Amino acid sequence: KSKSLSKVPKDGLYPEIIRKNYLGSKKLLNKKAIISGGDSGIGQSVAVHFAREGADIAIVYQENDKDAKETQKLVEKEGQQCILMKGDISKKTFRTKCLERVKKQWKTFDILVNNAGIQFPKTNIEKIKDEQIKETFDINIISMISFTRDCLDLIKKGGRIICTTSVTAYRGSDHLIDYSATKGAIATFIRSLSVNLANQKILVNGVAPGPIWTPLVKETFEDIASFGKDTPLKRAGQPSEVAPAYVFLASEDSSFITGEIIHINGGDFVGG
Ligand code: NAD
Repeated sequence: KSKSLSKVPKDGLYPEIIRKNYLGSKKLLNKKAIISGGDSGIGQSVAVHFAREGADIAIVYQENDKDAKETQKLVEKEGQQCILMKGDISKKTFRTKCLERVKKQWKTFDILVNNAGIQFPKTNIEKIKDEQIKETFDINIISMISFTRDCLDLIKKGGRIICTTSVTAYRGSDHLIDYSATKGAIATFIRSLSVNLANQKILVNGVAPGPIWTPLVKETFEDIASFGKDTPLKRAGQPSEVAPAYVFLASEDSSFITGEIIHINGGDFVGG
């Protein structure tokens, strides 16, 4: 994985983790949040915004220690705790280990952000391999359902679950067939789970980002300079433009919202 957080690359796009003018008003004071894929991209930005709002963070991530350490540093700079949990979320033993650690450290927690996801390079349906389909589904949706189930023992009544789906759940994607199918499944999962957990007063919502400048897309889209150009706003978004919606969905401000998905995509594509 390669990425540059501090340097602005030639194409002018770079991941902005937190807005300079994002003051925060301690909307998540004393809350504890688990964020999967919280080491980089959108998840990293969510971690830092949550921390600025007063939450302690536990990050589940797969491999990039450098990104994870940087996120930890940024969270700690906000005066909050940041637990790093490295492993493959699709493995039951790892998920169990994560929750044992959270239980030991916090006993319970308040907010689960299901954000880990993978995307293979653009592939035509004729060329798509079974292994790719399986891995994309395993990580993007099967692990999300399993991890959510595993978390139910520890998440507090009145807690929040926020899942990252995608614009591709709604519009499809001609060359990200398996990926967009997992994101459609996540959108349905959000709605179903919101009804299932309503009696425990756990609110379940989602965010559907459009083109956001992160390491994930840098690896997938060869023509990164034009990434996002077909949105009405004619540009890609920054992680820092997505994360505040997670803060809203995690805070008391959204106390009567469940089963909803916020679309953050630079406007709906204009067809025709
Ligand atoms: P990213 O690559 O920076 O983040 C993905 C994270 O998922 C990584 O940090 C990685 O640690 C984690 N992850 C992947 N596989 C894992 C595994 N097996 N176990 C544990 N963790 C694992 O990319 P991002 O763009 O920030 O993606 C975050 C989410 O946003 C993903 O679900 C992605 O599908 C979604 N999304 C992104 C965009 C976009 O344009 N960037 C658009 C729509 C949706």
